[in-house]
Amino acid sequence: MTVELRPILRACPSCGTDEPRDLGLGRSPWTIGECGACGFAYLTAAASYADLSDYYSWDKAIIIEAGRRKKAQPVVQWLDQKTRWRLHLFPRPETRTFLQDLVPGGHVVDIGCGSGKQGLALPDQYTPFGVEISRTLAEEADAAFAARGGACQHAPSSEGLGRFDADMFDGAMLNSYLEHEAEPLPVLKALHRVLNPTGVAVVKVPNFASWNAAVMKQNWCGIRLPDHVNYFTPDSLQEMAEAAGFTVAFPKLTNLPTNDNFWAFLRPAPAQA
Ligand SMILES: [Zn+2]
Repeated sequence: MTVELRPILRACPSCGTDEPRDLGLGRSPWTIGECGACGFAYLTAAASYADLSDYYSWDKAIIIEAGRRKKAQPVVQWLDQKTRWRLHLFPRPETRTFLQDLVPGGHVVDIGCGSGKQGLALPDQYTPFGVEISRTLAEEADAAFAARGGACQHAPSSEGLGRFDADMFDGAMLNSYLEHEAEPLPVLKALHRVLNPTGVAVVKVPNFASWNAAVMKQNWCGIRLPDHVNYFTPDSLQEMAEAAGFTVAFPKLTNLPTNDNFWAFLRPAPAQA
């Protein structure tokens, strides 16, 4: 069964300007545009939160997309599968292990937590919380987090984060989430409110500046239509996170151009005197 999403037009999610230049990487009716003002790459339409809440979920969409690609690009996909060894040349970083290195324990919120797998994998000194747009996944995560003293909010991320107390989190995980979020800047601002001044948020997103993205073009694994609505580079993520009040650091020796993803560490910027 094919799930049809209703596209809702959107302006640049980073600066609000509505002057996209078509990058030629989309597939009708989905267009990937580059903002004429700030250069941010984004899908010029996105699904509504209501659709995402109750009848669409990314895990099903991934299976449909994998089948479509296999049919449409057998040689390219075969090559991609056969060269997966390149992913193992260096130790594989994980969002959760970065978080454990940076945050010794406490309250951790996983934004776009799905069924709660990442939060539940954290050791006992962490209390897992989450926000999840899919109703069924959010219910599953909430029950599992509750057993460890945490909770999951079923809501769009900004709204869900708004239900938590200010400064209540020591850490946050945004693991392969922000590329799906139609309104990433308001979510980062909402995160800033709930992350305590010494807290750290670990972000993992596909790297639109990777070599593989440049070579594979519309067949790059980071392009998923219409699931991925933001196409971040380390520079464009930094710009957006700074606009939300964070300072940004990148892990050493991980964000290589050979990696399809990159990581960033967001910390609340010190208050202006
Ligand atoms: Zn822009």
